[in-house]
Amino acid sequence: MKLKTVKNIDLKGKRVLFRVDYDVPTKKIGGKVEVEDDTRIRLTIPTLDYLLEQNCKVIILAKNKRPDGKVVEELRLDPMAKRLSKLINKPVKKIDECIGSEARRAVDALGEGEILMLENTRFHPGETKNDPKFAKELASYGEIIVNDAFSLSHRAHASVVGIAKYLPMVAGFHLQQEVEMLSSLTENPKHPFVVVVGGAKVSDKVNAVVNLAKVADVVLVGGGVANIFLKAEGFDVRSSYMQDVIVDEKKRRMNFIELAKNLLRITKNEKMLLDGYIPLPKIIYPYDVLAAKRVKSKKVQVVDLTEEDNNGNLSKDLMFLDIGPRTMKLYRKIILQANTIFWNGPMGVFEEKAFEEGTKQIALATAKADAVTILGGADTTAAIRKFNLEKRYDHVSAAGGAALDFLAGKKLPGLVPMMSK
Ligand code: ADP
Ligand code: MG
Repeated sequence: MKLKTVKNIDLKGKRVLFRVDYDVPTKKIGGKVEVEDDTRIRLTIPTLDYLLEQNCKVIILAKNKRPDGKVVEELRLDPMAKRLSKLINKPVKKIDECIGSEARRAVDALGEGEILMLENTRFHPGETKNDPKFAKELASYGEIIVNDAFSLSHRAHASVVGIAKYLPMVAGFHLQQEVEMLSSLTENPKHPFVVVVGGAKVSDKVNAVVNLAKVADVVLVGGGVANIFLKAEGFDVRSSYMQDVIVDEKKRRMNFIELAKNLLRITKNEKMLLDGYIPLPKIIYPYDVLAAKRVKSKKVQVVDLTEEDNNGNLSKDLMFLDIGPRTMKLYRKIILQANTIFWNGPMGVFEEKAFEEGTKQIALATAKADAVTILGGADTTAAIRKFNLEKRYDHVSAAGGAALDFLAGKKLPGLVPMMSK
């Protein structure tokens, strides 16, 4: 996918609406809201620096959480403006409106190389309704939109999509990188291409996994996702966590066990060879797991799922909480043979020391592999940070839902205005 970027347009001295995603984790310290994790703010700095080099007048558009079209004091953008200012060591003027007379005055007063942050766009009901009047008003403050908010691209909102009806929109460096890296997975990945999927929220990932399974050589499953595949294959997963059936917002019922069965059936063909001669099935699920009756339990046991009687005498209360040692070894071996790796979702309840090993082994193997390595998912990111491996991958996507929709092959409305014809 090719996008128009900041490099394809003359920005010198222009009034630029800089669309970013500064919806970052916050915490309250002494009654004041402070930024807890500024990753998403830092990711926009290369583009911001470029805009300042071009002497642009920068007007930042951002949202925070879900105030549902009303002003919510705690969701103001002041902490983000403060953090950004600290990071770039420059003043960032923040006002308490996103449209209206105060906004207009502040925009008019803005000089070249100066930065203004407008208030949370979601304080206005027109934002999520993609109201053209609201979009037009926002658009009137700038001459061009620079979009660095890939993680919002799946939302057809006024400041993401509606606004582009009135002004040209180009991609910033961060958005461009997300699109390039994620595209490299679906368009011509270098084979062998190994997808690793785990975690709990199958409903979010299922479409991406089904789509990636078409291009991948092997899909390794772990975490709560593995329990679904195990059940689909007739294993008794006891009291394991599982999202088996959901009803989505369009009232469609999705049965993930049936989906897993289907996926196993249509992907029976073997593509990748282990050690050059052992054919691997396309979808591989754990053949041993770590199990316990409670997440905090000291009594952890390895359950071998290949045993003949399917462990008939195991307690009904057991939960499968991580992949087992033999599975870890196999997954590691496969990952080390890959040329492209995409990983989303922890292999186990990594928050607990007793169940972090599977995720750690995948993180280490992926870091070591001589491959293009791309990771996604908030909890996956938290896990690699915990293991201090964050810097060892080619790309760690900061977009949850948007990245998964993109990988599912959906057309993201927020990207359409930037697509080169
Ligand atoms: P991500 O945010 O990376 O996309 P998810 O949100 O889908 O990942 O899932 C992360 C959560 O899944 C973690 O909190 C982890 O504890 C949980 N998890 C992983 N494996 C299991 C398991 N076997 N049983 C229950 N929970 C699990
Ligand atoms: Mg998560």
